[in-house]
Amino acid sequence: MSNFSSDEDVITLKEKLQHSQLVFRDLALKSRREATILKRLISRLIAASQAHEDPQLNERLSQIRRDIDSQDDVSRLIPQLALVERMVNRHNQATEKAKDALECQFQQSGETLKCLPGLPAQLKRDLRNLLINPDNQQQDGHHKIVALLQLYERALKLLSLPSNGLSAKDLLNIDRIHQLCTELQHLITELDFDGEVGDKLLDIRSRLLLTPDSQTLLELTLESVQLILDGTRNERKSSQVFLSQINEDLSVLQRHNGRSIDSSQAISSQRSSLNDELASSVETIQSQLREAESLEILRPKISQVSVNLESLVARNRELEEREQQLLEQLQHNEQKLDALYQQTMDYRRRLGDQERKLLLDPLTKVYNRAALDDRLEHEYRCWIRYETPFCLAMIDIDHFKSVNDQYGHLVGDKVLKVVARTIHQCLRDTDFIARFGGEEFVVLLPDADEETRKTLLTKVRETVAKLPFKFKDSRLTVTVSIGASMFRENDNTVEVLERADNALYNAKHNGRNKLVWA
Ligand code: GH3
Ligand code: MG
Ligand code: MG
Repeated sequence: MSNFSSDEDVITLKEKLQHSQLVFRDLALKSRREATILKRLISRLIAASQAHEDPQLNERLSQIRRDIDSQDDVSRLIPQLALVERMVNRHNQATEKAKDALECQFQQSGETLKCLPGLPAQLKRDLRNLLINPDNQQQDGHHKIVALLQLYERALKLLSLPSNGLSAKDLLNIDRIHQLCTELQHLITELDFDGEVGDKLLDIRSRLLLTPDSQTLLELTLESVQLILDGTRNERKSSQVFLSQINEDLSVLQRHNGRSIDSSQAISSQRSSLNDELASSVETIQSQLREAESLEILRPKISQVSVNLESLVARNRELEEREQQLLEQLQHNEQKLDALYQQTMDYRRRLGDQERKLLLDPLTKVYNRAALDDRLEHEYRCWIRYETPFCLAMIDIDHFKSVNDQYGHLVGDKVLKVVARTIHQCLRDTDFIARFGGEEFVVLLPDADEETRKTLLTKVRETVAKLPFKFKDSRLTVTVSIGASMFRENDNTVEVLERADNALYNAKHNGRNKLVWA
C-alpha cells in the first residue's frame, strides 16, 4: 500500500517536475520574447532619437540594448527604463516648444511673403488661404510648412527667373501695372466729360481693359491727364463765355434802362411845360374873349393863338412818338431780361445735372463710390441712432475676365450694365446700390430683418444667374458671388466693409455663385 503510495508520489513528483519545467520553459520563452520586443522597441527608439539628434538619449538607449543581451531578467532594467522615460518626457517638451517656434516662424514667413511686392494675384490668394483658412489649421505643421515652402519657391522662380523675354524687374512690375490700369480705369469711369474729350477718354478706358504694357500705360496715362486738362479747360471756358455774355447783356440793358429813364424824365418835363403853355394859351383866349368888343379885333389875336396851338400839337405828337419809342425800348428790354432769365435757369439745370452726374457711375448708371461714401455715412449714423438691423453686401461678378476675354470688353460693358440694373431692380426703394469698382458692387440694406435681407440677397443671386444673355448664338450664364455682413456693436464702416470682403472671398473660394455671411 505504502509502496504503491510512494510510487504514486514519485509519479506525481515527476509530473510536477515536468510541469515546472514546462512552466519554466514557457517563462524563459516569454522572457526571451519580451527581451526581443524590448530590443526592437529600443532599436526604434534609437532610430527615433537619432532622427531627432539627441546623443544623450541615444547613448542611454544603446546601453540598455547591450544590457538586454547580457541580462536574463529584463526587470533589472526597470531603473534604466525609468531614466529613459524621463529623458523622453524632456525630449517631448523640447519638441513641443520647437513646434510652437516653428508655427510662429511659419506665420512670420507667411506675412513676409505676403508683403513682397509684385507677386501674382493667384499666388497671393493661395498664400492668404494657407494663412487664414481654418481647414489648414487641422493639417499638421509639416504639411503647412511644405506648402509655404512651395509658395516661396514659386515666388522666387517668378521673381528671379526671366520668362517670356521679360526681365525679373518687369515681372515684379506686372502686378503694379495691373493695379495702375484698374485705378486709371476707375478714375476715367468717375469722370464724365461730354463731346470729343469724353469719347477719347472712353476709348482709353477700353484700351486699359486689355492691360497694356508699361510703355503704353504711361502714354495712356499722359494722354488721360492731357484730356482731363482739356476737358476742364473747355468746361471752364464755356462757363466764362456764359458769364461774360450774361454780364455784357446786363450792362447793355442797364445802359438802355438808364437812357430810357432819362428820356422818360425829359418827356415828362416837356409834357408838363407843354401843358403849361396850353393852359396859358387857353387863358389868353378866354381873357381876350372877355375883353373883345368885336370879332374883327379878335381875329388876328386868335390866329396868333392858333399858330401857337398848332406848334403845341406838333410838339405833342413828337412827344407821343418818343413815348412810343420808349415803350418799345422797354418791351425789348423786358424780352431781353426774360431771355436772360431762361438762360440762367438753363445753366442752373445743367449744373444740377452735373452735380447729379458726379454721384452716378456713367457706365452702369447706378451710384458711384463718392455717393456710396456719403450714403454709408448717413445710414451708419441712422443705425447708431435707431439700432435697426443694417446689412452691407459686396457683390462681385464671377469670372468676369473670361467674359471680356471671350466676347470682348464691349460685351463685358453690356453685361455690367444689365447686372447693375438687375441688382437695382431686386432691391427695395430704401436700399442703395453703388458700383464699388470694376465688376464689384456694394449694396446697403438698412432696416432689414433676417428674413428680408436673406430673401433680397438670394433673389439678387438667383435673378442674375437666370438672366438670358445671348451673344452670337451662344448662351452666356453670368453669376455673382455675394459676401454680406451686419453692423454689430462697436463696428465702424471700414470694419464691416472688410468683413463683407472676406465673406466674398470665401464665397469665391467655395465655388462662386454663393451668398456667404460674415
Ligand atoms: P472672380 O470670379 O474671382 O471675381 O474672377 P474675375 O475674372 O471676375 O475677377 P478679376 O479681378 O480677375 O477680373 C476682373 C475683370 O473685370 C478684369 C477687368 O478687366 C474687368 N473689368 C473691370 N472694369 C471693367 C469695365 O468697366 N468693363 C469691362 N468690360 N471689364 C471691366
Ligand atoms: Mg469678379
Ligand atoms: Mg472683382
